[in-house]
Amino acid sequence: MTIGILGGGQLGYMLALAGYPIGLRFRILDPSPDAPAGMIAPHIAAAYEDRDALKKFSDGLEAVTYEFENVPVETAKFLSERAPVYPPIAALEEAQDRVREKNLFQKLGIPVADFVEVRSAAALDSAIHRIGLPAVLKTTRMGYDGKGQWALRTQEDVDKARAELPSTPLILEKWVNFERELSMLAVRSRGGQIHFYPLVENHHRGGILRLSIAPAPMVSPALQVAAEGAARQVLEALGYVGVLCIEFFEVGGRLLANEMAPRVHNSGHWTIEGAVCSQFENHLRAVAGLPLGATAAHGYSAMLNLIGELPNAAEVLQIPDAHLHLYGKEPRPGRKVGHVALRAATLDQLQQGLRQLPPFFQRPEFCLDRGAAAEALGRRA
Ligand code: AMP
Repeated sequence: MTIGILGGGQLGYMLALAGYPIGLRFRILDPSPDAPAGMIAPHIAAAYEDRDALKKFSDGLEAVTYEFENVPVETAKFLSERAPVYPPIAALEEAQDRVREKNLFQKLGIPVADFVEVRSAAALDSAIHRIGLPAVLKTTRMGYDGKGQWALRTQEDVDKARAELPSTPLILEKWVNFERELSMLAVRSRGGQIHFYPLVENHHRGGILRLSIAPAPMVSPALQVAAEGAARQVLEALGYVGVLCIEFFEVGGRLLANEMAPRVHNSGHWTIEGAVCSQFENHLRAVAGLPLGATAAHGYSAMLNLIGELPNAAEVLQIPDAHLHLYGKEPRPGRKVGHVALRAATLDQLQQGLRQLPPFFQRPEFCLDRGAAAEALGRRA
């Protein structure tokens, strides 16, 4: 069974790594000749709009999936005439546009922060009048890792942002004074079976995910149930197949949905060693029409993103139950080049393990001093 993957970055690479042991084969389409997944699977280096390449790519595939949500919808539609595309195209369409995504959440009764669509820079003042400051202005499309976002706290910020704004549609969101950020990863099979992973606690810096702790500490059963309920609504409304990630803000014991990703997600990398069946394998099982794997966690995991710079591999490898994942990418500032997963039987042992990581990881960008996990453990220590 050969699965086609649109996008050959680290997510495509880790999908392929997870799929070989269960008998799957892969073909990658990615315009970049250096795409990491090209190291381990046949790779067609062509534009997503190249119809001849798409025909060649789709020949004999069992199914097509994608590793990023900005796949052109036209490409997915063209391919869907040749092989089933999972997650469904409807999910791509919703996730590509922040306004559509937030409207979908609202329609399904999933709470979100107040927001208003800003069709042009000229409409910004009336939007601010409605939402108030502080607020966050985001491009509705093509934003990722904090790109295409402006934090507006003062009139000065507004004037500065106005000078930089693109002529594309924007969304203004009320600033959320959240206690923490959590994400829910869920998977739905072709037959409609759904499994949920435990909620994950995420820490960002400069708009990029740096640290995930899973299962998130201090999650009440009600919070987990609320997140699962939201994910179930979205999965069922879209007739979804594959892994879906929803990112939430936790505020006063409630969850506000921020955004969703119709794909495997960085906050699910811990599942490779930290869960019975990883997000990558479960995504493929769903896409290939196979039974889903269990989503329970093995103890506690911390996932640290390696951004722009690599640690000394031997220093990481000598730590018991630390797992190094390098994506084969040339280090460049701001670029995700790998991750480290650290696993422990208990939260206390995990915290101890994090404190003992080499100095490379004790820098502020790894966020090890932050969050409910650090707080809970600090109090106990
Ligand atoms: P996003 O691209 O929407 O995931 O935003 C990137 C990061 O910016 C989030 O993970 C939050 O840390 C922060 N952020 C986004 N939207 C808001 C908001 N409405 N209020 C406060 N912080 C936000």
